[in-house]
Amino acid sequence: MAAESIQSLIAATGVEDLERRFEAQRRAFAGEAYPTPERRRDRLDRLEQALRRHEADIRRAIAEDFGHRSHDETLLFEQFMCIEGIRHARSELRKWMRPRRRGVAWWSLPGRAVVTHQPLGVIGIVVPWNYPLSLAVGPSIPALAAGNRVMVKMSEYTPRIGALFEQMIAEAFEPTEMTVVNGGVEVARRFTSLPFDHLLFTGSTPVGREVMKSAAENLTPVTLELGGKSPVIVGGDFDVAEAARRIMHGKLANGGQTCIAPDYALVPAASVDAFIAACRDATLRLYPALVDNLDYTSIINDRHFGRLAGYVEEARLKGATVHKLHPDESDAARRRFSPVALTAVSADMRVMREEIFGPILPVVPYGEVGEAIAFVRERSHPLALYYFGGGEGRKRVLRETISGGVTVNNTLLHFAQEDLPFGGVGPSGIGAYHGSEGFRTFSQAKPIYYDSRLSGSALLRPPYGKLFQLVTRLLHR
Ligand code: NAD
Repeated sequence: MAAESIQSLIAATGVEDLERRFEAQRRAFAGEAYPTPERRRDRLDRLEQALRRHEADIRRAIAEDFGHRSHDETLLFEQFMCIEGIRHARSELRKWMRPRRRGVAWWSLPGRAVVTHQPLGVIGIVVPWNYPLSLAVGPSIPALAAGNRVMVKMSEYTPRIGALFEQMIAEAFEPTEMTVVNGGVEVARRFTSLPFDHLLFTGSTPVGREVMKSAAENLTPVTLELGGKSPVIVGGDFDVAEAARRIMHGKLANGGQTCIAPDYALVPAASVDAFIAACRDATLRLYPALVDNLDYTSIINDRHFGRLAGYVEEARLKGATVHKLHPDESDAARRRFSPVALTAVSADMRVMREEIFGPILPVVPYGEVGEAIAFVRERSHPLALYYFGGGEGRKRVLRETISGGVTVNNTLLHFAQEDLPFGGVGPSGIGAYHGSEGFRTFSQAKPIYYDSRLSGSALLRPPYGKLFQLVTRLLHR
């Protein structure tokens, strides 16, 4: 879709309106500094009801934004994930809110220490286009559970779900509790310059850098959920055909447009041919037809389709071998990109430098596991890493590589574990959410020390006489 027609769909939120909504939330928060568990649960219930009420509309809106997005993928990767997150937060809420007892210095006894979690205030959430519902709702869940007010900025690339989500939230919430903002980069810039009490941004690494700069002006703490190249390493002891089936599922879901999709594969040199044959077989099983298959998701827009075609062409010209993984040709008009694997790739190719975010799988051979580890370590810390296999190889990869998260023997699934924190490290992100870490991200973990009525601190006050010296000598032994 042309940029102009996308723009015409967005009822961009005006700058003044943005500031007005922010101030209203601030005032409302000042009037309710510590919402009860019942109040928080009620907000989570309303979020769930809104999602259920608009189930079919959501699938339709996202499909239209993508040109085509598989309805089943929206059900599984977005709607189910949101409901799971809400259920988890609701059942854990009381536990998360409970003050945590901490130890006290022996000389402070019988004093007592706790850490309590207090809502921060108004939380800003910036959403990318690739999973527009789950990346709007996912961070909103712990932000609401922690007792905050929430403002969400949707992506300009998904205007239909953006408009629908704005309407859904306006029906279910007072704008002072939760509100949704739409608009392009200008609105996004204004949004991220508001003095939020915490800002969670999901998107690309270059924009993440901009967001952190503008948050720094207000000293607003940030959680950055960014992207990058997530490697998969196939161990020598894992069945190559089974690995290929699992990898291609993770690679091709959402047309490859998943932040934690396996970006490239490191495969034992002797198994590369068998692996590529197995990837072809797996692709055909997953998508017997491609161009007309409703299970297969289109590339979001012409620019991204062209970017992917450009990667393959540049790699081919620089000497890579292109392995078609499906007999159907790509259809540029409908942005259906036919998956390919690439071998003989080199570090100077864009496909090996930039996050692919599409159905292209470079395959890099390695000799022994130390080589695969070195390949990962020479590059930026990835958001996700996948290892197939066990034994010493697995142990070494887990210990010697740094990544945001790991799934062993499959791809993507660590994201779906509600009780595991999710986030990147270094260029793939800062901070985490999901589970109790999400609740803590949006809370002030406030340490409180309760001194006892029988406090010994009187012994430490001036005038510093003999008693003081005796006590400090005892303490200082
Ligand atoms: P993007 O960075 O282009 O845009 C994300 C959001 O930022 C949009 O809402 C956009 O309006 C806004 N934005 C754009 N310019 C801005 C600016 N200068 N200041 C403030 N906000 C601005 O990302 P995208 O193309 O929508 O999404 C794809 C990227 O997101 C990929 O890199 C992918 O890996 C990453 N991603 C990460 C995760 C994760 O959980 N770590 C999840 C999904 C996507």
